[in-house]
Amino acid sequence: MKFTYFFASIAVVLATSAQAGGPPTEWGYEGPKDARHWGQLDPLFKTCSVGKRQSPINLDVAEVEKGGLKPIPFTYKAGPAEVLNNGHTIMMNLANSGSARFDGLEYRLVNVHFHTPSEEKINSMKAHMSAHFFHRAGDLKLAVVAVMFKLGKENAALKAMFDNMPEKEGKKFALTSFNPADILPADPTYFFYVGSLTEPPCTEDVKWYVMKTPLEISFAQLDAFKKLYRMNARYTQAINGRRIQMMVPDAEAAPAGTGSKASGH
Ligand SMILES: [Zn+2]
Repeated sequence: MKFTYFFASIAVVLATSAQAGGPPTEWGYEGPKDARHWGQLDPLFKTCSVGKRQSPINLDVAEVEKGGLKPIPFTYKAGPAEVLNNGHTIMMNLANSGSARFDGLEYRLVNVHFHTPSEEKINSMKAHMSAHFFHRAGDLKLAVVAVMFKLGKENAALKAMFDNMPEKEGKKFALTSFNPADILPADPTYFFYVGSLTEPPCTEDVKWYVMKTPLEISFAQLDAFKKLYRMNARYTQAINGRRIQMMVPDAEAAPAGTGSKASGH
């Protein structure tokens, strides 16, 4: 039963429901099926309530351990994308868009999807939106890269998606070419910790890589997304003593733990 979650997020929901033998267990972000109730909606969602290594979390630059990590080797490439409204978010399913190496292991990029506001907090602040780059290695290993978006200039790389988001759940359209590398910040600084899926079944042992520097989207782009999903972010979860590391490029030459470059940037 626990091996049903290795598909992308949308498939996770379908798989759990199929395993349960009934119609899909509905969940959402507001009302009686919101994130505070997920753990009670389905026995398969229990980890959402009882898990001790859940996501998202607040990342406090002053508190995290700095040094000792390298920039992530991304090998993303342009490929076709299927832009799906899955009932919880807009998701770009990617069949051939490359991979990234985490901890020496190759993870294939499976989808990029979006949350508003961002689920992660950095120094207790949420961004207007975040993108989650969902990766898989083999059947069971999951890793997510999060990129934050603040309001600013129109994001050209996401224009085709924002301009054509399907309004109805289950609807999709094909994008001939999308390069996920175009929505990675130039600054390689990231936070790393081990957490969970941020939606039911809240599966744990997910590696999280949260890029520190936000990219920009325009107000019109955010507004278009919010017309479909006003709020689709889980609240931040208890850290429970977890180790949180930060890759700081300038601090790599310094001994681990002494690279305090948090001010002035
Ligand atoms: Zn997500």
